[in-house]
Amino acid sequence: MKTFADLIHEVQEPGLCHQCGGCVAFCSAINYGALELGADGRPRYSNLEKCIECGICYSICPVIHELDEDTKELVSWSAPIGHILGNVVARATNPQVRAQATDGGVITALLLHLFDRGHIEAAIVSKTTGPFQRRPWLALSREDIVAAAGFHFDTLPSIKHFSDVYTTFSPSIAGLGDVARKPLKRVAFVGTPCQINVLRRMEVLGVVPSDAIKFHVGLFCAGNFQFGPEERQRLEQMGNFSWTEVHKVNLKEELLIHLNNGEIRAIPLNQLNFMKRHACQFCDDYAAEFADISCGGIGAPEGWTTVIIRSPLGRAVLANARGVDIELYSYRENPTLMSQAMAKVLEWSEKKKRSAAEYHQQLEKKAV
Ligand SMILES: Cc1cc2nc3c(=O)[nH]c(=O)nc-3n(C[C@H](O)[C@H](O)[C@H](O)COP(=O)(O)OP(=O)(O)OC[C@H]3O[C@@H](n4cnc5c(N)ncnc54)[C@H](O)[C@@H]3O)c2cc1C
Ligand code: SF4
Ligand code: SF4
Ligand code: SF4
Repeated sequence: MKTFADLIHEVQEPGLCHQCGGCVAFCSAINYGALELGADGRPRYSNLEKCIECGICYSICPVIHELDEDTKELVSWSAPIGHILGNVVARATNPQVRAQATDGGVITALLLHLFDRGHIEAAIVSKTTGPFQRRPWLALSREDIVAAAGFHFDTLPSIKHFSDVYTTFSPSIAGLGDVARKPLKRVAFVGTPCQINVLRRMEVLGVVPSDAIKFHVGLFCAGNFQFGPEERQRLEQMGNFSWTEVHKVNLKEELLIHLNNGEIRAIPLNQLNFMKRHACQFCDDYAAEFADISCGGIGAPEGWTTVIIRSPLGRAVLANARGVDIELYSYRENPTLMSQAMAKVLEWSEKKKRSAAEYHQQLEKKAV
């Protein structure tokens, strides 16, 4: 039986660990308690003696291919980028949500819609806790959900008392620990494609606490970027701006730095490899292919979100929220917008898959 010791050897040592936190979430939720997430976001043994060698952490790891076929079957995955029932460009009807959101606030609006009707008791989201830092957060109220909207980075120079980990990534799966402890039964999860993937693997095996996750919202993801002091300084030079002037950062086809005076500095993603997390180079899922709905800003006008509907549940939630908490883009203004947005998602998905395959080939050559 392979265990976490094999994950160290096969996943962590070659630098392939996504830090999705799935291995730790399962081991903690079932109270084996052998693993923990370190301060650097990496999983590690907290107490080796407690490991009963169940092998689940190994099987559910998205870097390990043991459950690939079962996971694809679970979500009716099909090539090239997963199951698709349709796509829309939409935004929240509530201007307060839109003002705080990354793009159109669709995710926050859908979570609120489900929460207000009692379909979910909570949502695992991610909240800003300091400059360039976010933490997983179990939102238990409307206010909690709204507070977690957006992809904001507090750039106030006065806030300095945080650890050295400055990153766009948030180990949201760690929020599953709270779900198991409460315990909650109807929870929505918002996360990156790798996080949705590990959740689905848990579902394939029917292990806790994935049974409580009823709605999976995936974020498009070109990669996870480090925003440490050196990286920030380099970005300032590349984009000719100062962080004190920044009010919002967003990732679409480029890194978009929104300044207080309304200007936007755009830095192409292919110039950001110096700050991209190593493991992300090997990741081939851009469009959150295992989610109920996947969202991103790519292909949508400023202030709107591109949404891919992937499951009947995703379709039902969006249909119910339409006209209440969500409004669709008026296609009369641009009849080809939906197909253009989809083409963009396909283009970036293919690019990511190609690049991941090249990195894997290089790694195999090195190993030989
Ligand atoms: C690391 C990362 C990379 C991304 N890369 C791309 C990209 O390359 N192209 C693209 O088009 N879109 C990308 N996105 C998605 C985009 O930034 C928006 O989140 C998406 O368009 C939804 O916008 P919204 O206004 O509808 O969501 P909102 O209503 O603003 O809600 C956003 C939700 O995401 C949660 N969240 C924010 N940050 C994180 C995080 N780090 N981890 C987990 N959950 C988080 C918030 O808690 C909130 O619930 C990325 C997002 C992240 C977090
Ligand atoms: S108890 Fe199971 S899940 Fe926990 S570390 Fe050991 S093998 Fe992995
Ligand atoms: S499950 Fe996630 S965090 Fe754990 S080893 Fe695999 S990739 Fe890393
Ligand atoms: S690119 Fe995104 S989905 Fe892939 S491992 Fe990195 S953070 Fe996870």
